[in-house]
Amino acid sequence: MSITVIYGSRGCEMVRTVLAHRRFEKTIDPSMSFGIKPNLVLAKPSHSGATTDPAVVEGIITFLKDHGCHNIAIMEGSWLGDSTARAFRICGYEELARRYQVELIDLKKDNTVTVSAGGLRLEICRSPLAVDCLINVPVLKAHCQTRLTCALKNLKGCIPDREKRRYHALGLHRPIAALSRALPQHLVVVDGIIGDLTFEEGGTPVHMHRVIVGNDPVAVDSYCASLLGLAPGDVPYISLAEELGVGCTQCEVTELNEGSQSKFSPSTTADALRLHFTEKEACSACVGSLMHALYRLRQAGSTPPSGIFIGQGFRGQEGSGIGIGSCTRGFTHHVPGCPPSAKAILDAFAEILPPIV
Ligand code: SF4
Repeated sequence: MSITVIYGSRGCEMVRTVLAHRRFEKTIDPSMSFGIKPNLVLAKPSHSGATTDPAVVEGIITFLKDHGCHNIAIMEGSWLGDSTARAFRICGYEELARRYQVELIDLKKDNTVTVSAGGLRLEICRSPLAVDCLINVPVLKAHCQTRLTCALKNLKGCIPDREKRRYHALGLHRPIAALSRALPQHLVVVDGIIGDLTFEEGGTPVHMHRVIVGNDPVAVDSYCASLLGLAPGDVPYISLAEELGVGCTQCEVTELNEGSQSKFSPSTTADALRLHFTEKEACSACVGSLMHALYRLRQAGSTPPSGIFIGQGFRGQEGSGIGIGSCTRGFTHHVPGCPPSAKAILDAFAEILPPIV
């Protein structure tokens, strides 16, 4: 298995060059259906570091069309509490779909199929399972719970919201690995042009100027983890996916041009913010809101209140601290919402915290 890396910032041209170099056209034919799965976790443009640059997807679409393939759909289901339709619009995908006459599929509205993989029963959206070729287009980013989000974790957008909650209750890594076994991805095109090494939801973008392409999501994630100074063992779902036969962590890397081959360090900001709360089976969207609220508080020079609790593991429990999200409604102070917004959390903190003098 090989990985191809190209350096630059013009996503469309870079992707077309890599696909031609890899002779991708030899593996496709016009009778096939294609699903393109970007990372549109929420409605923020790609320069925020959160979402896939539409120019990268444009490179894939134009390459497919140049080779007579027109049955193409872009499919995504944003994270809990966010609207995929809004993400399609804000992130430039409505305009892209209109320009190239491709379908947009909101996976939050899709039918589902239940399958068994990796010892788990998993509910998966029907559309990505039904295409002949699923092209996964993640963003290279850090993640507050799994440290890395890239090819394997990006498939979490192909499951309904109730399953997203359940994955967190199952500890995330095992179901992510099992999902990659149940839902084959045929090509991975990583948008490493702008990512975020602090927050999955963007806001602290880092320019990395590269696109990384491979057929094996385990190899791609293993390579991308190494770019962030992480070993496959630091991101357990990579090794678990390898054990399930999804791919192999060892691979050959070809660079098509010269670029800054520098590695990147995940920010320590998220680790420092995590010290302020206790988490049990929390969803990423909920933790993301809390992290942003804590980050804003720190920027304002204020110290967060002590005794913050978050996650599905606190459902039905009572406590004397501050509960974040509807799962913690039994706590003395409780911020409602599933997930609550960062603003709602900040407003609640403002009522509890003494004013800054
Ligand atoms: S309140 Fe938060 S942790 Fe609980 S289910 Fe909703 S998003 Fe998940």
